[in-house]
Amino acid sequence: MANAIYLLVVNFSLGLAFSLAFVGIARAQRVSLGYWCAAGFLLASCTVGAEMLAPRTGMPQLISFLSFSCLHSALALVAFGLIRNFTNWPRWPLPALYLAFEVAFPTIVMATPRDSLFYSFAYQTPFAVMPALGAAALLSGSRARRSLAEHFLMLVLFLSTAQFLFKGFLSYQLGPGSSIQTYVFSSYAQFSQTISAILSILLGVSLMLVVMEESNTRTRQTLLRDHLSGLWTRRAFFEKSETALKRRSANRSPVIILCDLDHFKKINDTYGHAVGDEVIRVFAACLEAAGGDVCGRLGGEEFATLTLDSNASLAQLQVETVRARLLNAEFLQEGLRPTASFGIAVMSEHEGLSDAIARADAALYEAKARGRDRLVFSRNEKDVASILREALLRR
Ligand code: GH3
Ligand code: MG
Ligand code: MG
Repeated sequence: MANAIYLLVVNFSLGLAFSLAFVGIARAQRVSLGYWCAAGFLLASCTVGAEMLAPRTGMPQLISFLSFSCLHSALALVAFGLIRNFTNWPRWPLPALYLAFEVAFPTIVMATPRDSLFYSFAYQTPFAVMPALGAAALLSGSRARRSLAEHFLMLVLFLSTAQFLFKGFLSYQLGPGSSIQTYVFSSYAQFSQTISAILSILLGVSLMLVVMEESNTRTRQTLLRDHLSGLWTRRAFFEKSETALKRRSANRSPVIILCDLDHFKKINDTYGHAVGDEVIRVFAACLEAAGGDVCGRLGGEEFATLTLDSNASLAQLQVETVRARLLNAEFLQEGLRPTASFGIAVMSEHEGLSDAIARADAALYEAKARGRDRLVFSRNEKDVASILREALLRR
């Protein structure tokens, strides 16, 4: 076998192995990025297949185009998967760029001699652009913190871009062979295939880490969400609220609102559990739509929201919005008009979450005692002191 053929066989097997592994991971973990990677690695091994077949076929132009197109498509698929997964970028520019490169190759690049500088760089540029776009997608992603695996992948993508550009220079220096049929016998092919083997292992492993991590993050997120209402679970509500409250500034008044559906047991008893579930879902949607930085279902038919930048009148408006939405909501069961009671605690400057929740709970209890379907503000210590002072003055 010619020197580079061994390496081509290795790269072909690597591409297939990674492709199969990604299909397995994507199916098991339900992360679509895995399918994009699987398709990418499959096409990458097709490139190698085309290059191995080249000396045995009489269609060098077709093989040359196939080899270019397969690798270009493989890299574009991975880049597109990363863009879809990590950004909100518009979807059309990448396919448009991909098509432009696909058209330019047979019409412009293949029309120039293989040993020219233009050919070398024009051949490698589309390959270099795709991993660069993948890295840019990771860089501009909306994640608050980038993981180690994402940093690793970004580094590998940058290295891939650099190696394609370097290959442009090297293939001009060493010569890529006078046609694709003689490419496998060139010393450039040995270098090119060696570096491809190393980078495809690095790329495969780093992508795999990112896909697995993505799956873990999603599993964690689903565990933190209440399956019925879609709001945060009790534990997540407390955790997210504590984290959010660290961001509060001195001139802001965070507000805790506790809500409880009125006579919910009667709704279940009268209309059935399924209708009760529908009421929980609808109420959760009303609560979320009315704003609030953290919304949770604390249990049963009890909910809570934390709004960071608020005050008493904004909180009142927020509750009235929830009540109005609930009043206008459509239910499968005609004539059903559920209501809720609300306890509001406007947090003082150094007040902790549990104290504010306890106050809101007491206010909610008062709202229930006063006849339900209403909101009650909790008086904080300062308010209580001023009320006492006023009462003393009035005497
Ligand atoms: P109040 O006005 O005093 O709040 O009375 P209530 O009937 O709403 O309160 P109570 O605590 O007596 O009853 C709550 C009911 O909520 C009892 C429980 O069966 C029901 N419940 C708890 N979780 C769910 C759920 O996920 N789905 C349904 N359909 N019902 C639930
Ligand atoms: Mg209730
Ligand atoms: Mg209750």
